[in-house]
Amino acid sequence: MKRTPIKEIFNSSETFLNKSVLVKGWVKSLRKSKAFSFVVLNDGSCFKDLQIIVDDTAPNYEEISSSIAGTCMSIEGLIVESGGKQPIEMQGKIPSVIGKVSEDYPLQKKKTSLEFLRDIAHVRARTNTLSAVFRVRHHLAQATHKFFSDQGFYYIHTPLITASDAEGAGELFRVSTLSDENPPKNDAGKVDYSKDYFATETFLACTGQLEAESLALAMGSVYTFGPTFRSENSHTARHLSEFWMIEPEVAFADLDDVADLGARYIQYMIKYAFEHCSDELAFFEKMYKKDLTETLKLVSENDFKKITYSEAIDILLNSKKKFEFKVEWGVDLQTEHERFLSEEHFKGPVIVTDYPKEIKAFYMKLNPDGKTVRAMDILVPGVGEIIGGSQREDDYETLRQKIKACGLEESDYDWYLDLRRFGGAPHSGFGLGFERAIMYITGMSNIRDVIAFPRFPGNAKF
Ligand code: ATP
Ligand code: MG
Repeated sequence: MKRTPIKEIFNSSETFLNKSVLVKGWVKSLRKSKAFSFVVLNDGSCFKDLQIIVDDTAPNYEEISSSIAGTCMSIEGLIVESGGKQPIEMQGKIPSVIGKVSEDYPLQKKKTSLEFLRDIAHVRARTNTLSAVFRVRHHLAQATHKFFSDQGFYYIHTPLITASDAEGAGELFRVSTLSDENPPKNDAGKVDYSKDYFATETFLACTGQLEAESLALAMGSVYTFGPTFRSENSHTARHLSEFWMIEPEVAFADLDDVADLGARYIQYMIKYAFEHCSDELAFFEKMYKKDLTETLKLVSENDFKKITYSEAIDILLNSKKKFEFKVEWGVDLQTEHERFLSEEHFKGPVIVTDYPKEIKAFYMKLNPDGKTVRAMDILVPGVGEIIGGSQREDDYETLRQKIKACGLEESDYDWYLDLRRFGGAPHSGFGLGFERAIMYITGMSNIRDVIAFPRFPGNAKF
């Protein structure tokens, strides 16, 4: 008999009633009484567990009834109506153990902390919390493709190995095959990367934006969805060294167009999650965030607030709140400021636009005031910045000056400058941190709990 995922059984319980099925999964708990054992089985296909009653006439009943949580089992049996929490349960007829579990299986205790689970990331997907997170993650990825594709965006793939440092921030992982003991040196005594694999210095990409711009200026609307690498030394609950980013880039669009696109994208993901992961969201609300569904519903149905950076600074200055980092026009907004704005002041997502040019990247379009750029961040409660975007500088000369002023090599950006000479056009885009979106929608408070195998400073285990 072919295995039936437990999800299918619950999804069409009527059709499965009084039918024989074969399920395979991992024991959540097992209670043994005189004449039968009560097995709670989960196969990860959905949040729900299947309750299975195996009575002592079943073959190898001894082995089954003495199994412990974590055991991998296969059970063939009859789906019947249940008087319990679930509408159905199984009368297990032919149970067998697929994989035994050793005494030191770390998930036998009922309550474990998320922190403890991070150290056993290879088995933590067996817990309610992590498997729920990963199912939501799957659905939000599907939602992303559907959202963009339905609006005519093309899904593109930008290189992960790159020679350009788009942010000019230097928080990049080097890619090199040079010998670490005796690398070739140039006349200045520095490592000679012209002798390296790519004949130039290369890094893991911290964004695919520059390449996405090139495709947007040929195909109109495009988006990337891929891994992103930043060697920033942040031990925060919102930064990873390897995370996934979605970067739409749109030709003929201005900042307002992509701010609106970002807001609609977040709302779409929320609605999609309610449609496809209602059990998971109910669980997160019960266990982690009491008002999760109510606040998400509000966000998905109401327009996002929009203010300029200057207005944000005024709000922060006029608040009676004591901030750790000083607030004055010109400083970058810190997490505490971002969270104050979205959590306390607006009590919802807020779009902040037109930041001082000094604190933003070189490619952002200069406003006529000469002081601010057409940048926008979308801030959400509990997370802070979830989206960072801008209208791109499309004026060749302004961009060239900006590259110089930022101390970057013009020759490294010749192809990027070409895009402004070869039929350029206004265009805009943004990056959304996928893990931050998952945090926001699940209510999980640490980014290390929304990716299966997190990478952060000091940790590359698994
Ligand atoms: P932050 O100020 O939080 O470090 P950023 O301004 O560096 O963010 P951007 O360069 O604008 O972020 O990147 C776009 C989006 O990618 C951010 O809005 C955020 O959602 C996500 N992001 C940025 N850095 C990280 C990281 N280290 N880990 C996870 N997500 C990140
Ligand atoms: Mg950053």
